[in-house]
Amino acid sequence: MEDRTAFIDTAAALLGPRGFTRDADLMEPWLTDWRGRFTGAALALASPASTAEVAALVRLCGEHGVAIVPQGGNSGMCGGATPDDSGEAILLSLRRMNAIRSFDAAARQAVCEAGVILQTFHEAAETHGLRFPLTLGGKGSATIGGLISTNAGGTQVLRHGSMRAQVVGIEAVMADGSLFDSLTALKKDNRGFDLKQLLIGSEGTLGIVTAATLTLVPAIADRVVLWAGVRSLEAARALLLHCQAVAGDALEGFEVMAQTTLDDVVAHAPGARQPLAGKHAWHALIELVSDRAGADRLGALAEELLASAWEAGLVEDAVISSNEAQAEAFWLLRDEIAPAERAKGPAVQHDISVAVEQMPEFVEEAVPMLEAAWPGTEAVAFGHLGDGNVHFHVIAPPGVEARAWQEGDGKKISAQVYDLVTKWHGSISAEHGIGQLKRDELARLGDPVALGLMRAVKQALDPKGLLNPGKLVPLAREGANA
Ligand SMILES: Cc1cc2nc3c(=O)[nH]c(=O)nc-3n(C[C@H](O)[C@H](O)[C@H](O)COP(=O)(O)OP(=O)(O)OC[C@H]3O[C@@H](n4cnc5c(N)ncnc54)[C@H](O)[C@@H]3O)c2cc1C
Repeated sequence: MEDRTAFIDTAAALLGPRGFTRDADLMEPWLTDWRGRFTGAALALASPASTAEVAALVRLCGEHGVAIVPQGGNSGMCGGATPDDSGEAILLSLRRMNAIRSFDAAARQAVCEAGVILQTFHEAAETHGLRFPLTLGGKGSATIGGLISTNAGGTQVLRHGSMRAQVVGIEAVMADGSLFDSLTALKKDNRGFDLKQLLIGSEGTLGIVTAATLTLVPAIADRVVLWAGVRSLEAARALLLHCQAVAGDALEGFEVMAQTTLDDVVAHAPGARQPLAGKHAWHALIELVSDRAGADRLGALAEELLASAWEAGLVEDAVISSNEAQAEAFWLLRDEIAPAERAKGPAVQHDISVAVEQMPEFVEEAVPMLEAAWPGTEAVAFGHLGDGNVHFHVIAPPGVEARAWQEGDGKKISAQVYDLVTKWHGSISAEHGIGQLKRDELARLGDPVALGLMRAVKQALDPKGLLNPGKLVPLAREGANA
């Protein structure tokens, strides 16, 4: 192992005691990923306070050949922010860079540093009568830099798009320490490649995002949540198309779950109740919003929507939230799916997408096929039907030992799910990214041309391979799919 003393001394002097530590206790919480699947080791934890410090540190790492693992809130789902166990890489935390540099309410834009927590940004937008239209369960930890680097989605993608759609400018430190400064938001700019798009979703493998210019939309003044029982997932999709036609821009969210999933939630979550009197094969949660308050316009729209859906035979039963508490109670049923599933037993989770119009058919084929191939398992699909993206989980047979099942049958099941998704021309990662969790599956199933292009970009932008090595795409020299 190379002597790192010179690097450590220089980095410590550069960043000072608040910005650089090798204390095992201080590093420990950041060395295991949020799901507890990966644990690594680090040479040091670096927490620069400014873009200039990030740039100087990255240059220093380049000079000494030290690998860098960028980290925001460490809430990612694929182990992308966890170093390997060599202890040779530094963990570069962006959490101290948490300033909202500017807020232009008239232009509906803000410039945020990478370490700003999503929830903090939501609260800041609210004080200006605006909102940032991207939210997810990890909003209390996830940072702007991490959300950009994983191109995160959530429940509002249907109307507003994923993180990619919210980013209009980026500032990033590249692998050689140079600064890519593209924070100015230009509505029109045709000077060649849109380079910021390369950084979005690149999981820290091409550059360190230090700040971004983000778009905002008017705050919600009114919302109504509907709950509908339908006879099949195909009927849920027909209802979605109907909602889009009738409600237009007011349609903010459309989530689905099967009756069995709803039953699990009601059995698990304190205070949760079935929203409808009878049982239905599938359920849809539909959110309508307006940025203009008053005169129960949304209530009338919801009534019209349901009446016409009823007439067209699209719903078996439905209810409209009569107040905010009931709207929240409907969303609780959606948010409690993951905890209810965890209480039931170990599972393997897949965040997949296929073409929106094919999702019902895909689920109908995949669920019985997997349950037949793996007796005792239960396959469940829920989530963002409108984005062609469901969380496809397979719950273990009762009584198995969790870790052994996940490492054995669970891995084989996942490979089968990904094979099936690939056969349907879908994606093995709709929202959460690749990280180290799915890197080998991407190498196994990815289009060779696309993988070759990704490797070429990586080689061009990070020729020494120091930015988040071992994540996202394996380099050709590392083996698979060269
Ligand atoms: C309860 C819960 C619910 C979630 N729900 C959803 C959901 O509905 N939809 C969805 O899309 N995601 C969801 N997520 C995952 C979400 O994508 C991540 O939480 C978030 O995007 C990662 O942000 P982070 O700051 O924690 O990044 P980290 O976990 O720290 O890092 C994630 C990746 O980005 C890289 N990275 C981090 N910061 C930077 C930076 N500044 N520059 C370059 N690279 C960087 C890391 O190296 C790593 O590869 C959920 C997470 C949780 C915990």
